[in-house]
Amino acid sequence: MTTAKTKQAGNEAIKQIHYLAGALKAPRITEAAARMADSARDSGWTHEEYLAAVLDREVAARNASGARLRIRAAGFGSPKTLEEFDWDAQPAVRQQVPALASGGFLTEARNVVLLGPPGTGKTHLATGLGIAAANHGHRVLFATATDWVTRLTEAHRAGRLPAELARLRRYGLIIVDEVGYLPFEQDAANLFFQLVSSRYEHASLILTSNLPFSGWGGVFGDQAVAAAMIDRIVHHADVLTLKGASYRLRNRGIDTLPSIRAQDTAD
Ligand code: ADP
Ligand code: MG
Repeated sequence: MTTAKTKQAGNEAIKQIHYLAGALKAPRITEAAARMADSARDSGWTHEEYLAAVLDREVAARNASGARLRIRAAGFGSPKTLEEFDWDAQPAVRQQVPALASGGFLTEARNVVLLGPPGTGKTHLATGLGIAAANHGHRVLFATATDWVTRLTEAHRAGRLPAELARLRRYGLIIVDEVGYLPFEQDAANLFFQLVSSRYEHASLILTSNLPFSGWGGVFGDQAVAAAMIDRIVHHADVLTLKGASYRLRNRGIDTLPSIRAQDTAD
């Protein structure tokens, strides 16, 4: 039974909690404390259980809003999640992805490379792993290889390439989508090489490409540059090879067109 006296004391305490939660910049504590007080009394929670439940609401809300901000800031083209991925279409990688989704590769500064023909889900999986990383508290940036080169070129022209590379190292994960879509000029290839070198054994990269590694020499215009880059990327990396026809074109009867099958070369 809640007497009038304890009710009044409770109201006083809630007012004080309101003030203290404001001082802690944790406004949700006021609402959770008030809302849970009665159910705590009714269910006979201990003081410790009540405090834990109230704090849990604040921490859960902070984590969720932090992850939301990190996902928004990452610049994903389309925020596809791993939960939306149809594993039956790519059974070979079904075993590999859950371990990566738990984020261990990020703390070890390992890389992930996704290879495969167009439409097999490389961008989808790279994005899904990026979202999982953001949910684990890592800062993430996503862009195509061409966009990365543009950013690095601008930084280089402004004389602040080292500062830009240092800033990017503060992101636990950088995703480079579509390596090999367009070949790079030599300057661009060198800038890209610097990005890869600057992250080597410091922070993770996820790269996607529709070309096998043997085709990267043509992208970077130089077999030696490509070999040095692949060496650094793959030294600590999981390489996932997606196979088969485009998911976009499935059930359309056009995935057997010779022009589409001809690109089915990554292995
Ligand atoms: P890629 O980057 O390999 O060209 P995408 O990741 O862009 O391919 O995939 C093309 C489209 O098909 C996207 O809309 C993606 O969400 C979808 N898709 C591809 N593979 C799958 C899959 N296994 N399960 C669900 N959706 C998929
Ligand atoms: Mg893609």
